[in-house]
Amino acid sequence: MRNGWNEQFRGFMFAIAATAAALWVRTLLHPILEDRLPFGVFYLSVIISAWLGGTASAVVAMVLGMVAAAHFIIPPQSSLLIAEPADWVSLLIYAIVGAVTIVTFEKTRCEQREAEQRSCENQELTETLKRSDLQKDEYLALLAHELRNPLAPIATSVDLMARCRDDGRRFDALRRAVLRQLSQLVRIVDDLLDVSRYLQGKMRLLRDPFDLREAVGAAVEMVQPQIDERQHDVRLLIPDVAIGVSGDRVRLVQVVSNLLSNSAKYTPRGGRICIDLRAENGEAVLSVSDNGIGIADDDRRRIFEAFAQVDSSHTRDHGGLGLGLALVKQLCELHEGTVDVISRGPGKGSRFEIRLPLVELPTPSVRVVEKQESIDLESTSVLIVDDNRDAAETLSMLLTFEGMNATVAYDGPMALDLLRKQKPAFILLDIGLPGMDGYEVARRIRADHGQDGVKIIALTGWGGPEDRRRTKEAGFDDHVVKPVDPANLVSLLRGAQPQSA
Ligand code: ADP
Repeated sequence: MRNGWNEQFRGFMFAIAATAAALWVRTLLHPILEDRLPFGVFYLSVIISAWLGGTASAVVAMVLGMVAAAHFIIPPQSSLLIAEPADWVSLLIYAIVGAVTIVTFEKTRCEQREAEQRSCENQELTETLKRSDLQKDEYLALLAHELRNPLAPIATSVDLMARCRDDGRRFDALRRAVLRQLSQLVRIVDDLLDVSRYLQGKMRLLRDPFDLREAVGAAVEMVQPQIDERQHDVRLLIPDVAIGVSGDRVRLVQVVSNLLSNSAKYTPRGGRICIDLRAENGEAVLSVSDNGIGIADDDRRRIFEAFAQVDSSHTRDHGGLGLGLALVKQLCELHEGTVDVISRGPGKGSRFEIRLPLVELPTPSVRVVEKQESIDLESTSVLIVDDNRDAAETLSMLLTFEGMNATVAYDGPMALDLLRKQKPAFILLDIGLPGMDGYEVARRIRADHGQDGVKIIALTGWGGPEDRRRTKEAGFDDHVVKPVDPANLVSLLRGAQPQSA
């Protein structure tokens, strides 16, 4: 504000000085010009004021020029009276030319200001791009590190498994280590896919009214190995009555297990974790608190952003990709709920609290659960179609162990060719095949054989709702996402009941 006034004042000073200079020049020229061109030199003072002092300064210079010309040059002198029509015309021309000059200068000045602003914005944009490029590189390095973490023990275990084939106990321990690390890898990939799905607005919930206590129980069960490993003491404050919410059960288990797993991770060994679930003012309130490393005030908002971590240095103590809390926040919002964190600062523990709208749960009806007939897989034939030969061969080995007759094909035409010679009960079909993709293979099988006799199961890395819709349209009976859990696959096949085996 003060700066603005200073500038205005400077502008007026310019106008007065320029008009005075013009009047002095006009006085010097008076013997030559006499009464002619009374406003001539005052154009110069308007231009100089517009250039150096801005619009207001130029307007003042123009008015001062008019007064000076009327008073000092146009007869009768020493009076502001203008009697001659020729002088009125000169005054009019002076006013019009002066106004045009002022508008032109103002326009040029605006364009200049805009250009300067654009240049500043471009500079900021370049800086932001450079920063995000650097962040992307750092994040890729972090991702590589997080993926390598489970890969290293898998590689070592597989090598050791070959050496201690005869030592059953050790072999089993190694196998369990591989499975643990694999589930860690799957979790990283799932989190990345979830975040990307959410960012593209593609995340869908399968909502049903259910008791939130079930989600808490399932989450505790999931994180129990991590809690045991870190020897934490966990207290559960769960009410005896149901806490009904309308939600996606799987996703809410994910929310609670993310919070619990973070508490286990960011609390030093032997810490205390408390899970408190209650109903309050029409809301289901779940809090997970710990006496761990705590969170500084400045970081409290940031940690809910995707890829944000308080400590992302190479020397940090804890793994992770900074996706867990972003997913928690996004999933709570999709459930019309909120998540918040309270911490008294570093070293003073944290408390995460989620709030979801309470709903009335329907009274449970007595359901007659029909016993699903499960088929014996012994000698059942199955065709595995996958261009990844290792994936196809290992799956074939697994199903052969279950007593099935497994055949493999590495592309679509080979699969269709084999189908002409044999009639398998199941086809486990990859989608991303070279040349003819899995959708096309399924469509052709359905065109040739209809729905009779064969169950086609998609075995693919694509697991989004859109992918499932496409497989259904192409004639698949089921959709299984890789990496497949062998036990789940076998029970899926057992329950699938093909029409002919
Ligand atoms: P990640 O754990 O993979 O880094 P999250 O999104 O789950 O990613 O968490 C983001 C950050 O929030 C973590 O890096 C950590 O700094 C902080 N944080 C999360 N939970 C806790 C907690 N219970 N105590 C202290 N800090 C936490």
